[in-house]
Amino acid sequence: MEVYNVKSEEEDAKYFLSYINDVLIPSSDDFFDLLDDNKVLLHHAFSFNAILAHAIDYMVFIAKKVTKADRKTFISEFDNRYHVDGCAHINNKFRLLDAINNSFKHVELEQKRYSDLIEIYGDLTFHSLTPKEGKIFFESSSYMFDYCRVVMRPIAVIFNCGLKNTNDVDDFINGRICGCTGYGNFDYDYEPEDAIDRMIDACNPECMDCGEAGDDCDCPNFIYGENSGEFSSNTDPNFDFGDVMSNISGTREWSK
Ligand SMILES: [Zn+2]
Repeated sequence: MEVYNVKSEEEDAKYFLSYINDVLIPSSDDFFDLLDDNKVLLHHAFSFNAILAHAIDYMVFIAKKVTKADRKTFISEFDNRYHVDGCAHINNKFRLLDAINNSFKHVELEQKRYSDLIEIYGDLTFHSLTPKEGKIFFESSSYMFDYCRVVMRPIAVIFNCGLKNTNDVDDFINGRICGCTGYGNFDYDYEPEDAIDRMIDACNPECMDCGEAGDDCDCPNFIYGENSGEFSSNTDPNFDFGDVMSNISGTREWSK
């Protein structure tokens, strides 16, 4: 489902590339450092959210020159176009990110533009994000989850896919190329010597909702409307315990 299939203006594409490579990716690196150390403060979250939302505005600007894209529809389709992975309970991550940015920029959220989101999440305000011990939570009457890990983390990764020229920018805006967290994909050759790595990954998988492993995952404490969060294991669909075990013992026998 592409937005357009023509070449966008070179100057606009260069501007976008410069924004992605000089601003968005360096700030992603800083943001992921803070995330890894659980040292995210409210101003970090709003700043990075604004940087991500601004990239959306660039894409809408470029697309609007060559197509009749309407901003709301365009952003609504982002979540499908880029296959935003991670938490399945929040499947409108781009729209939520855009709405949080709007609530941050304006004293009052543009109610009409975000009426569908307000129906799901309740009124969105500057206070929808709350800091707690180095994490930033999205909180409303029926939702409570780690906003940085559930929403911003998978979106930030999408932009980091080595964009270099106008063609790349057009491919990116149309969702033909994008970065991804790689959940469900494992680059093993499935040879016997890969068995130990496969077992390590199977025993200590990352949670696809929050990106944390083992006890660091908070997801069981999260609330998504009618649903509770849970550890959502990133496991290899081709993993077979017996098979991998026999490969491990076979490798050991062989290496004696
Ligand atoms: Zn988790």
